Amino acid sequence: MSAEMKLFWGDPHIHSTASWRCFEFGNEPDGYDGSPADCYRYARDEAQMDFAAVTDHDCGLAQNFDMKPQDWEAICAAALDYNDSGRFVAFLGFEWSSKGGHRHVIYSHDDAPILPCSEYVTPPDLWAQLEQHDSQALVIPHHIARHGMPNQWEYHNPKFEPVVEICSIWGCYEFAGNPFECDPNWAPSDARGFAREGLGCGLRFGFIGGGDVHDGRAGGHVLGWDISDLKERWANNRQLKRNPLGCGIAGVYATELTREALLEGFRARRTLAATGLKTAIKMDLDGLFIGAQAQATEQQYLRRVITVEAEANCPLRKIEIVRNGLTLTPYPCSGNSDNVEYVDEQPLTEVVPQISADGEFASVYYYVRVTREDFRMAWTSPVWLDFPL
Ligand SMILES: [Zn+2]
Ligand SMILES: [Zn+2]
Repeated sequence: MSAEMKLFWGDPHIHSTASWRCFEFGNEPDGYDGSPADCYRYARDEAQMDFAAVTDHDCGLAQNFDMKPQDWEAICAAALDYNDSGRFVAFLGFEWSSKGGHRHVIYSHDDAPILPCSEYVTPPDLWAQLEQHDSQALVIPHHIARHGMPNQWEYHNPKFEPVVEICSIWGCYEFAGNPFECDPNWAPSDARGFAREGLGCGLRFGFIGGGDVHDGRAGGHVLGWDISDLKERWANNRQLKRNPLGCGIAGVYATELTREALLEGFRARRTLAATGLKTAIKMDLDGLFIGAQAQATEQQYLRRVITVEAEANCPLRKIEIVRNGLTLTPYPCSGNSDNVEYVDEQPLTEVVPQISADGEFASVYYYVRVTREDFRMAWTSPVWLDFPL
């Protein structure tokens, strides 16, 4: 990573009153009106985010009506009004809420249409429209293992989908059986959709978090809950129906705070996912930064050195390095920041390889998971090393 890269935080998945279910979960907050403009204001001024995208549903719950034109106009006006390079980046976007898997779309500019899934039914229909209207758009699959609408990895589009949302108000979608998987009474999981399954297909994508909170508020708020007993509450209280860690947020390493630079960071997968609050992580594998891919060198066949730095505004509990779906030794942490150097001396010939999607080569991927004292978590995107089969 070059020295001038900075870490920016945002919520790329906000719902305003233009979506169904806004305020459905109760707690209609004082002082908010839930409008698209208010969502950007809240993200910037109260949640202290660097960027945000209001991504309202393209259609109604029963998918029998499309978003009202005046709502889309209000969203476009708010994104244009709030986008202020260097201070706060507001992206224009919407959610393509297909029964075949939800995806939110983030545009690179202000002059693009809403593309309802009632009209553009399949992912390839969506890709074709985006090629026409904004070939630099970002498409983000979310609640990827939700039963009845899991992400269908066979549609994965490396150009439009460099990152996937792995945590949100729904829970965590890193792998089946993770401690903060969505409450099965609320939205049971379909094991095929988890991020680890997608990586296991040989696909390459980074990790981000997103809010998906339907009350207009961005940035990982946790509704003021006392989270000291949250694991027990999550296990026992079926009324929570929400990720007790808070919603998700996304970290992006970029050269500057502009739409272009952030989108370049997303495309390079220089991203973090975090639940609730900001937890900064850097990972370096022999000079390769988060999201990178490279051919393994001769030296790397025998030995890889991974360095990790993590920092938050509360004590850290542990740092874990995940290799091809396997969690390697956890490192207990002390203090609000910690470093790890892990030397992987298992020869690549002895590592169960990840086979590429086209079956042509093998690879090994590593990513980092950090757990804080308050149980909130954060992840880096993976780094990949390729080698011949
Ligand atoms: Zn959705
Ligand atoms: Zn959503």
